[in-house]
Amino acid sequence: MKLPPRHDLAFLPTPLHPLDRLAEALALPHAPRLWIKRDDQTGLAAGGNKARKLEFLVADALAAGADALVTAGGRQSNHARQTAAAGRASGFEVHLVLNEGGEDPEYRWSGNVLLDRLLGAHIHPNAGTGFDADDAMADVAAELRRAGRRPYVIPPGGSSPVGAVGYVDAARELLAAAPTFGCVVHASGSGGTQAGLLAGFAQAEAAPPVLGISVARSSEELAARVLALAGETVALIGGATPVVPADVVVDDGYVGPGYGVPTDAMVEAVGLVARTEGVLLDPVYTGKAMAGLVDLLRAGRFDGMGDLVFLHTGGLPGLFAYRTTFE
Ligand SMILES: *Cc1c(COP(=O)(O)O)cnc(C)c1O
Repeated sequence: MKLPPRHDLAFLPTPLHPLDRLAEALALPHAPRLWIKRDDQTGLAAGGNKARKLEFLVADALAAGADALVTAGGRQSNHARQTAAAGRASGFEVHLVLNEGGEDPEYRWSGNVLLDRLLGAHIHPNAGTGFDADDAMADVAAELRRAGRRPYVIPPGGSSPVGAVGYVDAARELLAAAPTFGCVVHASGSGGTQAGLLAGFAQAEAAPPVLGISVARSSEELAARVLALAGETVALIGGATPVVPADVVVDDGYVGPGYGVPTDAMVEAVGLVARTEGVLLDPVYTGKAMAGLVDLLRAGRFDGMGDLVFLHTGGLPGLFAYRTTFE
């Protein structure tokens, strides 16, 4: 196994600590001990999981001789914001294709969008719908080429095989940590985080299972994406062991009405973790993943397992775009 070149951008390794006060509040005597891996503390303009991916994506862009980064996301994309920070810190012009985001001025202009603008990113409206912004990114890239620039296009979520390598490295970090974990739980969106973790864990002699809590797609669709991307990632790092379908465990029971749409369980989980641990989750990803984890813990799903780690993938600025949800 050999990782591709990396450009140093993130604060690593990220902290890992127990959540004993949360466990006490849940009062589940048979549940395993809970830990949290703080990938919300990776740096790059307020942290998050995209920083690990961007270390490898930016290195690839530099190797390609690019001078501009182009990516896309939802209006409150954490990936877009971290790409803007990574790009500026590495000397790139940054172009973001974002959804319009509806009427609420705080959703449209606060949170991540405020930071995108502060970081000097160029914001282009997404002509397509939802996540699928390939055409809009291709148009922006073509326009940049006509102007003599050399754009490097990053898919939404940074979930190319090169980006997923960031989580191969995170898998190594988790395996090097004490204790040995019985399960890793995290929010899964575009699938790169889960694919990278699985690709990395597959190369280890013993590794915990990974549960991806979907924040958008059906389990079937997300699992297919994760499996395909994990396969490409194993190939890229020259891994000896493939990721097989049984390794890919996802749960779409906590999405609610849709991506980015608040649920009561999310609001409860964000408040509970804030008040017991002083840790801030986010409304779109980690709040829903924690809602899932709490529900599964209460249902006894993890009873008898070894220690459990929640991977906090970031998203803090999103809270400010959802002010009214938490009032
Ligand atoms: C992007 C993101 C995720 C999901 O990661 P994927 O690699 O896209 O599955 C989870 N949490 C936060 C805060 C994110 O921004």
